[in-house]
Amino acid sequence: MPKTKQTRRVTPASCDTLIDSIPQLVWTARPDGLHDYANRRWLDYVGLTFEQVHRDIWAYLPFLHPEDQEGNRMHWEYALDTGTLFEYEQRIKQCQTGEYRWFLTRAEPLRNEADQIVKWVGTSTDIEEQKRIEDVLREGQERADALMQSKIIGINIIEGEQIVDANDTFLRMTGYTREDLRAGRLNWRNMTPPEYMARTVQSLQELATQQSMTPYEKEYVCQDGSRLLVLVCGVVFQHHPHQAINFVLDNSARKELEQHKDDFINMASHELRTPLTVVKMQTQLVHKRLEKHSQHEAATTLSRVERPIEQLERLIGELLDVSQMQAGRLKYVRERVDLDALLREATDTMQHMSPSHTIVVRGSIQTSVIGDRDRLEQMLSNLLSNAIKYSPDAKTVEVELSTSESAVTIRVIDHGLGIPREQRDKIFERFYRDAGLRQHAVPGLGMGLYIVAEIVKHHGGTITVDSDVGKGSTFTVTFPRRRDV
Ligand code: ADP
Repeated sequence: MPKTKQTRRVTPASCDTLIDSIPQLVWTARPDGLHDYANRRWLDYVGLTFEQVHRDIWAYLPFLHPEDQEGNRMHWEYALDTGTLFEYEQRIKQCQTGEYRWFLTRAEPLRNEADQIVKWVGTSTDIEEQKRIEDVLREGQERADALMQSKIIGINIIEGEQIVDANDTFLRMTGYTREDLRAGRLNWRNMTPPEYMARTVQSLQELATQQSMTPYEKEYVCQDGSRLLVLVCGVVFQHHPHQAINFVLDNSARKELEQHKDDFINMASHELRTPLTVVKMQTQLVHKRLEKHSQHEAATTLSRVERPIEQLERLIGELLDVSQMQAGRLKYVRERVDLDALLREATDTMQHMSPSHTIVVRGSIQTSVIGDRDRLEQMLSNLLSNAIKYSPDAKTVEVELSTSESAVTIRVIDHGLGIPREQRDKIFERFYRDAGLRQHAVPGLGMGLYIVAEIVKHHGGTITVDSDVGKGSTFTVTFPRRRDV
């Protein structure tokens, strides 16, 4: 086909080779738009011969994606009419695979001295990868936008102490405006009440070292000075480690609910205690009278009521303790307490009440502490009664005592059910119970360990638990020595 070769060779042979080797599809067209040159890559890509392209201005159109054909035609006609740059993103079919890939096609007019167009020079550059990245970016951006528009979750972005961006929900929650945000008036340090500062700083340190933080509860000081209880968690941006994004959930409804619950428990336990005290006193009185009149059988029958009354009394007492501890209103006595004597008494009482287990005491403390005797006894008896309660198949419960220069340590060890790892932090929370235990019919309301932990805390001590499920648990209480509390 000599004519074809001649037409195609508008450039020297060496230029042809050069143009064929570049990754773009390259072509030229006459001023009326008919192609008069196409590089090898172009022809091979769509699978056309130069004659086909040269014969028909629209010969390539069927090789464009059906959705792009009309747009290409309009843009090319407009460029030819106006002599302006042609630029269009379109999908071109690869003839061998039948696969469409995105190309950016551009054509510029070349003009002579009289400013007449003598030729169009066009290129098509493969932008498939770029398009894919754009799609991923757009998708990511859309997701981020949707998240920022959340009506439930407040979102803020911090850099140093400054809140540099926030969604509308966060601004609404805290009463600030976008103008405040732009003016740099949102600063987490200023918005954190003093009592939450240490916890906040700790969480931010966790964020810096681990790139994310465990959700924690805090309060924000709002624009009008009011407080808002929130649950916060955050993550560091991978590519901007100086910035972190925080997700903030309004927790005030929960606080209100908890308050209602606390008020109810407080009120109910007070209301129950008074009539119960009367019942108890009356029962004791009748018991004495029956004994006095040698009505022993009736007295024995009556004593069957006394034990449930005592249990009820203890339960109501615990409820009252919990609600007063929670409100910080529990009064503690300060006296010198001989811990060995106290321990002996507590274990004797418990041994008497629970003959099913032998309580073995090892070691001694040989020192006294300043504290509330009754509360320390309550702490011990709660730990002991749990040790017995949660080791139904064991025969012994052990108490180990030891003293060092700086601390006294009490260990209560059982060989019972044990506590799964994920529950070990939760068991000290108010009213926490392992749901499985209810099925195992172990009685309890989840107050014992909360009370223990509060008493230990008040006396400047610590409590920890080690446990092996199916083998048993060890609760370790440590008090500082020679320290008046
Ligand atoms: P309660 O015994 O009334 O449930 P506590 O506050 O004393 O309440 O204990 C909370 C939870 O901790 C219990 O429900 C139980 O799951 C677990 N627990 C406490 N002590 C032990 C123990 N010695 N062995 C196994 N589990 C224990």
